Amino acid sequence: MGLFSLYLAQGGGERLFFLSPNPVFDFTYLQRSRGYGSFAYLSNPLPVGLAVYLLFALQKNLRQEVRAVSGGQFSQLLEQLQNRSLRAMGLLAYPSQKDALRQFWKNFSPGSFFFREVGGAAPPGPVLLPKKDELDEVEKLLAGRLLREREIARLLGLGSAAQKNHLTGILQVLCLTGRIFLLPALLPLKGNVVFCQRCGWEGIPRLRVCRGCGSRECAVCPECLIMGELSLCEPLYTAGRPQVFLPDPAPSHRLFSLLAPVIRAFFDPQGSRRREAVGRERVLCHPLIFQVPDALRSGSPCPGLVSPGSGRPGYSRSGFPGAGSPRQEGERDAPALQGAAPHRKKEIPGGEAGQRADLRLEVEFTAPQAAAAGALLEFGAEANPHRECLVWAACGAGKTEVSFPLIGEVLAAGKQVLFTTPRRDVVLEVAPRLARTFGSRQVTALYGGSGNQGRQSPLVVATTHQALRFDQHFDLVILDEGDAFPYPGSRMLHFGVAQARRQEGKVVYLTATPEKEILARARAGLVDIIKIPARPHGFPLPEPRFLKIQPVRTTRRGPVLHGDLLALIKQAVTRFRAQLFLFVPTVELARIVGEALRAAAGEPPLEDFSPGWIEWSHAGDRDRLQKRERFFAGKFPVLVTTTIMERGVTVPRVHVLVINADQAAVFDAPTLVQIAGRCGRSASYPTGEVWFLAPRVSREMDDALGQIRSFNNEADRAGYLRPDYPFVLQEILRKETVKDGLQGCC
Ligand SMILES: [Zn+2]
Ligand SMILES: [Zn+2]
Repeated sequence: MGLFSLYLAQGGGERLFFLSPNPVFDFTYLQRSRGYGSFAYLSNPLPVGLAVYLLFALQKNLRQEVRAVSGGQFSQLLEQLQNRSLRAMGLLAYPSQKDALRQFWKNFSPGSFFFREVGGAAPPGPVLLPKKDELDEVEKLLAGRLLREREIARLLGLGSAAQKNHLTGILQVLCLTGRIFLLPALLPLKGNVVFCQRCGWEGIPRLRVCRGCGSRECAVCPECLIMGELSLCEPLYTAGRPQVFLPDPAPSHRLFSLLAPVIRAFFDPQGSRRREAVGRERVLCHPLIFQVPDALRSGSPCPGLVSPGSGRPGYSRSGFPGAGSPRQEGERDAPALQGAAPHRKKEIPGGEAGQRADLRLEVEFTAPQAAAAGALLEFGAEANPHRECLVWAACGAGKTEVSFPLIGEVLAAGKQVLFTTPRRDVVLEVAPRLARTFGSRQVTALYGGSGNQGRQSPLVVATTHQALRFDQHFDLVILDEGDAFPYPGSRMLHFGVAQARRQEGKVVYLTATPEKEILARARAGLVDIIKIPARPHGFPLPEPRFLKIQPVRTTRRGPVLHGDLLALIKQAVTRFRAQLFLFVPTVELARIVGEALRAAAGEPPLEDFSPGWIEWSHAGDRDRLQKRERFFAGKFPVLVTTTIMERGVTVPRVHVLVINADQAAVFDAPTLVQIAGRCGRSASYPTGEVWFLAPRVSREMDDALGQIRSFNNEADRAGYLRPDYPFVLQEILRKETVKDGLQGCC
């Protein structure tokens, strides 16, 4: 599997160049459906990445051939193809593949390698052509997806070798008719450098022996292994791209990289800026078809290079600035084999354009939420494609549901929406809410192991990893908590989310702590900002206070906790009867502080404490989920933790201390804002103390305080805070505070 041969087929007034894992199948299909009569192999079987690379290289040369046409002989054309394919292969670093190709051409003689079928006689061997409904089913499955053949087979429930073999034929017919596109998973660029078309990785993979293709020089993308291994001999397939644009002339690496930005700038001036961050675009492969004028049917090349999709207004090859000659005399629009130029299928049940979705929102919006939801609807209605918008909400302000009305509008217009987040727990939480709001038939949840890959629905809720299995499909992408691990540092996930969106699609970022890069683009006017500065209960966010001390000292007798730290712990637990998150920058410090606190329990000032009140946890802690559950249930008051508890955690009555808060590598401003955001979330206890403890005040600490304060000021100015909040807070603290003695939560 995975080995494709280049071939040339001719008949019915046209000549076709393409590649196939089973050229006899292609020929049979072309013969029966299009009346083709002759056929030649143009290469030995090659890993599909190399075969597509050669096809692109020949595409460029074929075009030159077309320009120079004067009725040369067919054998001359073959000779030129030979020279050019060997030269192109020479630019890559696959010595044994180079040898095999050279050997192929050495043995090549037009007479021996041609099928010459006249009058419709079948070539050797029985070939079963796919039926119409089989073709339709696979095309529908691939709409907007980017899938491997084995993934397609699994989704269709194909088990036997014969069924899988038949699927290969279906995919091939769909490619030949321009209904789907093939993408080599790894596209060679130059030497050993390849581009992974699923995750956007570009680099030199380790060459290795491959069981799939039997080659000694196969390669695997090292970056997206988690989504299943992708190798040089593996094709990906997609359907529903609104247009085709292959770099033209073909991607000799230099031209490729030179032209890509030109093409992008031409079609997508804002998008090109957006996409600079995520590198090059995916490259689709489709058959090259020449019309053969009657006079030249004896076998000479002819002026009529066209390809599926090239006839679309605005997308014709000749439209690329700087991308070659103007449209050739006699060049025609797409030949539409079986009448199928590339097209999108986007109709979905339940949505006529303009018809409002029937929203069953579970919550009443607060004033700041309603304002934000309204602003988002306006953003959605703007006739400005590519636009991006940041919904910047205070922690706990309820940002997710604010996007629901916009989602409803887009669905009602019959369009596709992706709600994506790096966090699986958010997918699990949001998907049912969206299903209750829009109906479960409209929503698919995708995460590792979710098993819904084959489901078709207009609204997809997915982890950012799952976005890699889509291709230019969504009209609206909502990225929730894009600042959460592992999205911010992941080029792969940025690439996947960018590629899942249609060129003219819009993006909404929902977050309490936007990345600096988005804020910079917002300042440059490229991203709209909508703020939700207040929580639903109408109390201000607890503002962190700084305490300049060295919270933990190491001495010869072991670690010593500062007296002020102990006093704060005691105050939180015994006086305010609150639970306490103690955030530390490292796993090591979690253990040290946890053990030191247990040792201090029972002695003044923690004379009322018992060692069992203190637990510590971190990402590598096997019991972390259990400890988390017990802490939520109020079983113990003090949890020492690394930043794993930074977000997605709601404890109703909690205070927060951050030890060594000045360690900016761990505690950057967004992290500190999230940590402070753990406090005061519930309406019954809308307050709480937040302390940052460190020998000095870092810029990130100042930034965090600044962000929280500015939300509070904005909420105050906008009248989003309860007018009586200072009085109510005082009342709550008076009632809840215990002067002395412990009536803990335990
Ligand atoms: Zn990859
Ligand atoms: Zn291989």
